Amino acid sequence: MKIIFHGAAQEVGKSCIEIISQGKRYLLDAGVKFIHGGVEYPKYLDKVSELNAIFLSHAHMDHCGALPMLEHKRLKCPIYCTKMTWDITNILLEDGFHLEKLRSIHPAYSARDVRAVKDDINLVRYSKWYETKDRKVKFQYINAGHIPGSASILLEIEGKRVLYAADINTQETLLMEPSLLEKLEFDKPIDVLITENTYGNRLHPDKADVQEGFIKSIMSGIEGGGSVLLPVFGVGRSQEILILLEKLPKNIPIYLDGAARVLTKLMYQSSDNYILNKDILEDMFKRVHLVKHPAERAKIAKQKGVVILTTSGMLQGGPSVGYAETMIHDKNNFIILSGFQAHGTNGRSIFEDHVFYNHHQRFKVLAHVRKFDFSAHIGQDGIRKVMKNLKAKHVLLQHGDIDALEAVKQWSDRHTDEVPSNVIIPRIGEELEF
Ligand SMILES: [Zn+2]
Repeated sequence: MKIIFHGAAQEVGKSCIEIISQGKRYLLDAGVKFIHGGVEYPKYLDKVSELNAIFLSHAHMDHCGALPMLEHKRLKCPIYCTKMTWDITNILLEDGFHLEKLRSIHPAYSARDVRAVKDDINLVRYSKWYETKDRKVKFQYINAGHIPGSASILLEIEGKRVLYAADINTQETLLMEPSLLEKLEFDKPIDVLITENTYGNRLHPDKADVQEGFIKSIMSGIEGGGSVLLPVFGVGRSQEILILLEKLPKNIPIYLDGAARVLTKLMYQSSDNYILNKDILEDMFKRVHLVKHPAERAKIAKQKGVVILTTSGMLQGGPSVGYAETMIHDKNNFIILSGFQAHGTNGRSIFEDHVFYNHHQRFKVLAHVRKFDFSAHIGQDGIRKVMKNLKAKHVLLQHGDIDALEAVKQWSDRHTDEVPSNVIIPRIGEELEF
C-alpha cells in the first residue's frame, strides 16, 4: 500500500492522509488550515469523485473542515465517524464564523455542500470492527481522549495493520476519559503507526497545579474589583473550563456566550461514555447566565465582579473579541487564556506584547493577561510511551512543527532497543510504500 500526506506533514493544519491499496483510495481526515487572511485546503488531492471512503477522526476544523469542499468536487463515498463527531462537525460547518472563512477557499461553497456531507455520513461505534463497502478494509474506532467523539482509527488493509492515532490525549481531563494507547495490547502487531507530535518537544505542567492556578487567577480578578474574561475554544475546552468553574463561589455570576452554549448542551445530553462529569456540566449549564442576544454584550462587558466564558479561544472572531474590546481598558480586569495561541492572533499579542488589534487599530491592554496550559494533546513523555508500547514496524511522525518532530525522531534514534521502528518524518506530497 501507498501512503501520501496531503497536509499536517511538518505542520499543524489541514490533516489529510491518503492510503492507496489495490487501486482503491481512502482518506484519513479532510481538514483545512486557517492562515493569516485565508484558508488552505489539502494539497495535491485530485479526482475526489474516485475516493472509496473517508475516515474522520474528530470534529476539529483542521481535521473535518475540508469535507464540504470535497462534496463540492463531487465526493461519492461514505464518511465514517462517531455520532458525537458528526453532531459537532455539523454545528461547526454551519457556524457563520467558519462559513465565512471557508468561503475564501471556494466562493461557491454553500449550504448545499454541508447538507451533502450529511448524506454521506456513516456512524460508527467505538471498539467495534467494521468493513468498508468494497470489503477491502476492516476498521475500528478507539477513544482518543482528545475531545468528545474523537477517535484513533485502526485499519486492516492487505493483511497489514495501520493505526492512525490522530489527535490524542493519554491524560484524563475533567471532560474526557484518556486514550489508552500507552498500554493497550493489540492482538496483532501494528505495521504502521501514524502519530501526532504537537507537543513532541514539550512536557505538560502538572494538571492539578494548572487547575488551581486558573481558579486563583479568576479570584484575584474578582477580589481586585474587576471582571474576568475567559476566551475558550468551543469544542471541549469550554466544557472542561465550565466543569472547573464549579469550584467558584456561587455568588459570582458566570456568563456563557458563543458556540459553547449549544455544544455544552449537546455534550451533557450525549450517551457517549467517554465524556466525564456530565452531571456537573449540566448543573453548571443551568447555573450560568446564557447570553441570548448580542445587544446584551456591551452591558455585561462593563459589569464588575463577573466571569465571562466565550469563544473564540484566540480572540480572533466570535464574541470574545467584542468583550475584550471593552475589558482591555480596565487595569482591574483579567483576561485568562487556556489554550495554544497561534502567531498573528490577538490572543498571542495581548499575552506577549499587551497589544490588541481591532478594526485596523492598535490598543494598549491595561487589563492583566494570564495563560494556562490545558492541553488536549499528548505530551512528549506520552508520545514516547505510545511508541514504546506499540513497537510498530514503521512510525510516521506528523501533526507538529519541525522542531517537535525532530525531537521525537532524535529520541527514538537513540533508543532503538525500546523503539525498534523505522521512524519517518513525511513531507507533503511524498509517496511512502509499505
Ligand atoms: Zn484536534
